[in-house]
Amino acid sequence: MPIDPTLPYDDDNIFAKILRDEIPSKRVYEDQWAIAFHDINPQAKLHILVIPRGKYVSWDDFAAKAPAEEIAGFIRAVGNVAREHGLVGPGYRLLANVGYHGGQEVPHLHVHLFGGQPLGRMIA
Ligand code: 5GP
Repeated sequence: MPIDPTLPYDDDNIFAKILRDEIPSKRVYEDQWAIAFHDINPQAKLHILVIPRGKYVSWDDFAAKAPAEEIAGFIRAVGNVAREHGLVGPGYRLLANVGYHGGQEVPHLHVHLFGGQPLGRMIA
């Protein structure tokens, strides 16, 4: 079920638990600002989720409230993950779902990083 991105942050959401290492994930990257791990249900040959360490429900929440340094750190982390996976040459796609129309299911900001194959049309 899509979440309501206007609700307060829920410390018990699944990505908060992954951040705290309370449930396992295939982590591929971490720095001061972000971690990245493989999506449990990949939609492309490579499907990685990049999430900020900070507590933000959605892209909207992050864009509105995060300090500039944290925004820069997170955006750089997304770039680092793509670069480290050799995706810059062949190309890749980023996606952040927000709320009901976006189909967001986990109430902690995450950017989907898809790659490893031609990705087709932007919206099916
Ligand atoms: P959303 O629809 O919120 O943009 O995307 C949520 C994503 O999180 C989905 O692609 C889903 O497969 C992934 N996901 C949900 N639960 C888990 C989990 O426990 N571990 C991992 N690695 N991914 C998850």
